[in-house]
Amino acid sequence: MGLFRLLTFILVVIVAWRMIKNYRAAVAKRDNNTENPKISVREKMVKCEVCNIHLPKEDAIAGDASDSNSDDGNWFCSPEHKESFKRQGS
Ligand SMILES: [Zn+2]
Repeated sequence: MGLFRLLTFILVVIVAWRMIKNYRAAVAKRDNNTENPKISVREKMVKCEVCNIHLPKEDAIAGDASDSNSDDGNWFCSPEHKESFKRQGS
């Protein structure tokens, strides 16, 4: 009977251990889920003046008229489009 009790004890420990692991994994997953929307909100989208494509502000190229801290002004997806926009304007 002693062996049966020992096996039961081991089983309880294993189940408890797995529950703790699952709980910690769920908490970690929940933290990731709450963090992701913040990142996407922080990442501002701007529009290329030439091809009207939307791209993250970090990847965009600012036009000469605007400083990079401003959302106004012209944004471009590539140096080529910045040049072609300048040529169009003048
Ligand atoms: Zn473009």
